[in-house]
Amino acid sequence: MHPTDFTLRGAIDALSEGTISSVELTQAHLDGIAKLNPRLNAFITVTAEKALAQAKASDERRAAGQVGALEGIPLAIKDLFCTAGTRTTAGSRILDSFVPPYESTVSQKLLNDGAVFLGKANLDEFAMGSSNTTSASGPVENPWSRANDPDTRLVPGGSSGGSAAAVAARLALGATATDTGGSIRQPAAFCGIAGIKPTYGRCSRFGIVAFASSLDQAGPVARTVEDCAILLKSMAGFDPKDSTSADMPVPDFAKACERGVKGLRIGVPKEYRLDGMAPEIVALWEQGLQWLRDAGAETVEISLPHAKYALPTYYIVAPAEASSNLARYDGVRFGMRVTEPGSDLRDLYERTRAAGFGAEVRRRIMIGTYVLSAGYYDAYYLKAQKVRALIRRDFEQAYADVDAIVTPATPSAAFGMDEKQDDPVAMYLNDIFTVTANLAGLPGLAVPAGLDGQGLPLGLQVIGRAFDEETVFAVGRTLERAAGFDALPRLRAGA
Ligand code: GLN
Repeated sequence: MHPTDFTLRGAIDALSEGTISSVELTQAHLDGIAKLNPRLNAFITVTAEKALAQAKASDERRAAGQVGALEGIPLAIKDLFCTAGTRTTAGSRILDSFVPPYESTVSQKLLNDGAVFLGKANLDEFAMGSSNTTSASGPVENPWSRANDPDTRLVPGGSSGGSAAAVAARLALGATATDTGGSIRQPAAFCGIAGIKPTYGRCSRFGIVAFASSLDQAGPVARTVEDCAILLKSMAGFDPKDSTSADMPVPDFAKACERGVKGLRIGVPKEYRLDGMAPEIVALWEQGLQWLRDAGAETVEISLPHAKYALPTYYIVAPAEASSNLARYDGVRFGMRVTEPGSDLRDLYERTRAAGFGAEVRRRIMIGTYVLSAGYYDAYYLKAQKVRALIRRDFEQAYADVDAIVTPATPSAAFGMDEKQDDPVAMYLNDIFTVTANLAGLPGLAVPAGLDGQGLPLGLQVIGRAFDEETVFAVGRTLERAAGFDALPRLRAGA
């Protein structure tokens, strides 16, 4: 077996049995990166030397009997998480030269548990996108391709496209990601891996470059549901440095994976049956519900009447918060500065921001400032906030009757790198099934569940009650086991 073929759980076991060292495991992943990253572009920065030093230190700790929960496990870190001493770009030119003096809480927790960082994973600029084509470091390619059209290069989804592509291509055992409207779940589904956006507040946002603060959540992507559970356990927990982080105990998520679904009531929202949805996705959804019934769950139709407003609501709230969060990139405090002799301060701001931000980010800033502007605030932003409250209430009412909700993860499989690029609205539709969980603050897990007619992965989504990731993992693991998803992408390390 090639060392990059381990699951994260398998690697933990192999390390503890001593059949492999962290240095060997890390080197195998670095070799895979050296071979495939020039094509996939999943990493913006590869920290090979640091990784090998961390791996060596980990092997020494293990020899001394000190073994953390992720001791010696090589991971990729989305380049939205500040990493002390390692460049953190957020996929933007404006942070091209930013080297944070501090570590994000989530990445620090992973380091505390013994993890090894291979490098910083590519992403859409400031995590805005669904195809990882807006990064200043160039697009990421999905390691999967269509069976009858292998030459068309596909997107990995976004914004955590680098994280998902790296994990799918076996360039890392797992990765950190963030999800504001679907950026963990959609790329996980497009790349045939698992990913969970936890409940809002479960993971600290401290040291994560902010996009839309009331929606952003960190979470893991990995090749199995259990691997996600192991990573989330390390990433989660109260942090006094983030006033929105929840002071709640962190359960043993991996244990919850084995709970089964007997007696659970699974909600099936009728509003998610969209006109014109691909028949393969409808069929997979039906199949998933049947698997859950076979495992002892009951499925019930529910209604989320305001779900149809979720996408427009999201695309008002998220840009509004983004326009405010991105005001800090002014050429004075962070990264890039563009100035001319004789420039005044306003000119410095304008030149820096015009040169530093890409087209999608500028579009969001303009939408955001517009919906927040004096004349339109009530009509757009305030209205969106009211609809958001109704969307949240729909879920509360549904959860009076059901334990979890199951939907497709995305309305399609991965698309071509040059498709949908000139139509922002078609791009925004990618998030139709995922944004509701962010607006309501609920946990959502994407599980690889099948292939489309072209041999591309398709995912199902499990949405749970706030802070009930355990049930989400139990349902997800049941779907994963029934699906027996074992297809492999064409481009991968060790192949
Ligand atoms: N695709 C969505 C957007 O572009 C979600 C991005 C995300 O979750 N970070 O806003």
